[in-house]
Amino acid sequence: MESFKPLNIEEAFDILSVKDAIIVAGGTDAMVKRRTEPGIVPEFENDVVFINGIRELKNINSDENYIYIGAGCTYTEAAENELIPDCFRTVIADIATPAIRNAGTLGGNVCNASPAADILPLLYALEAKLLIESKSGNRTIPIEDFVVGPGRTDLKKGEILTCIKIPLKEYNLFYYKKVGTRKAAAISKISFAGFANVKTGKIKEFHAAFGSVGPTTVRVKKAEEEIKEMNIDEALQLYGNSINPIDDQRSTAIYRKKVSMNLLKDFIGKVEEKYNG
Ligand SMILES: Cc1cc2nc3c(=O)[nH]c(=O)nc-3n(C[C@H](O)[C@H](O)[C@H](O)COP(=O)(O)OP(=O)(O)OC[C@H]3O[C@@H](n4cnc5c(N)ncnc54)[C@H](O)[C@@H]3O)c2cc1C
Repeated sequence: MESFKPLNIEEAFDILSVKDAIIVAGGTDAMVKRRTEPGIVPEFENDVVFINGIRELKNINSDENYIYIGAGCTYTEAAENELIPDCFRTVIADIATPAIRNAGTLGGNVCNASPAADILPLLYALEAKLLIESKSGNRTIPIEDFVVGPGRTDLKKGEILTCIKIPLKEYNLFYYKKVGTRKAAAISKISFAGFANVKTGKIKEFHAAFGSVGPTTVRVKKAEEEIKEMNIDEALQLYGNSINPIDDQRSTAIYRKKVSMNLLKDFIGKVEEKYNG
């Protein structure tokens, strides 16, 4: 097993184009997954490319259409950047502990594709797009097309997720709730992120995403359209049909379904208040 620590993105693409190597950013998922015993170095089945020294992956900037967040930004780096909207700080504050937030990256959370990943509901609700690059080119895809199952993504050999693109849209309501077993350092039982842009008598935008209630983050676009038309009962029915959680070591299907529907109704209540003036 060989390990590589490229200092620029081209070098990383070169290595990945010839080696069947595992990418490691902060290692807070990749290392933990391969740990054997406390104090023993994790065992990797392939060569490893450490990408946390690549400066280009830590760039954060914006133009009139998007905020561009380098996939290699740690939670701490993102939260400290003034271009990052406050909704990120709200979500990040509930992730893990300062030590993990100093090492773990946004791109790592996306690529690990855990159903309980806390950045995913936020990115789904913001309709984020992902820039994926390799030695042979690049492509941009919506986040919901990237995560294809629990722990599975559309990433192909040689590719790196380089940038998370957040469309700049106007919202005047943001709702976020993470439900865990304890207040801090908890893995989500349920998480919910919602954004809306509501004026009296008009819902311009409504997006909602649920984590930990299905194999991937759940967003129901048809239900969002019904809410924009104020067909709340129809929308709740669609959400009810789409949220099908499971029992696992963290929670039960019944609890997850009940709480996620309650959070959704709470958010819809706030939307209705604004709608009714
Ligand atoms: C104690 C502890 C608490 C935690 N608490 C939380 C929590 O509250 N909420 C939460 O959501 N998560 C939590 N996590 C999980 C983890 O910290 C996050 O998912 C983190 O964002 C992973 O980022 P990373 O940079 O460490 O990823 P890594 O472990 O380096 O990589 C994760 C996966 O993504 C791939 N990858 C990473 N970056 C890229 C890239 N740019 N392009 C392509 N592939 C890439 C790797 O190959 C690997 O498969 C916790 C972990 C620990 C150990």
